[in-house]
Amino acid sequence: MSKKGILVVVSGPSGAGKGTVIAEVMKRSDKFDYSVSATTRPPRPGEVDGVHYHFIDHDAFENLIMTGMTLEYTEYSNNYYGTLRSSVEGKLDEGRNVMLEIEVDGAMQIKTKFPDAVLIMVIPPDYKTLEKRLRDRATNDEDDINRRLLRACDEMRFFYRYDYYVVNRDGEAGRAAEELIGIVESETRSTRRNPGFTTDFFIN
Ligand code: 5GP
Repeated sequence: MSKKGILVVVSGPSGAGKGTVIAEVMKRSDKFDYSVSATTRPPRPGEVDGVHYHFIDHDAFENLIMTGMTLEYTEYSNNYYGTLRSSVEGKLDEGRNVMLEIEVDGAMQIKTKFPDAVLIMVIPPDYKTLEKRLRDRATNDEDDINRRLLRACDEMRFFYRYDYYVVNRDGEAGRAAEELIGIVESETRSTRRNPGFTTDFFIN
């Protein structure tokens, strides 16, 4: 029986370590495809076009929106970010689990369009740790830290709109990744996601 894959949305405040956890998931499991988003923000050092993001200009992004090529999009720090339809739909049909790493506004749009999506919030153990992680990062810009802390509080307001949370403790991203993989594995065996199960059971 060919089954659709699961759309997995991962969000979390800046400083939660989402990127590290996702990298650990991709290392440990071959059941996920990472959806590469489009953005108008310029690449950071080390970022590769088509791997970390599809880096495009403002006009090209608005063209994607107008032609219905985005499943969701948002404006974040004066730039557009969006999920491409082509990164998601075909893969789900092939039975692959597709992972999106997007902020809360986009996650809510996905939940409306794909009610079966699994929304997972990756969080640090507590607010103090979040603050420490942001302060320990290369940036010393106090304004930037405060903006991110404020935004983190804002994102935490959406906690209960998510289906699951995973705590990313210092130095334990691998453990967080295992938990995330476990959540998706449990979802694949939810009775709700397997409506034809009993028919197959009796016929085969
Ligand atoms: P950054 O600029 O640090 O790579 O990303 C900024 C924020 O944009 C992060 O919270 C990230 O999760 C979010 N983001 C990345 N891609 C997308 C996307 O396709 N859609 C939405 N809604 N948010 C995204």
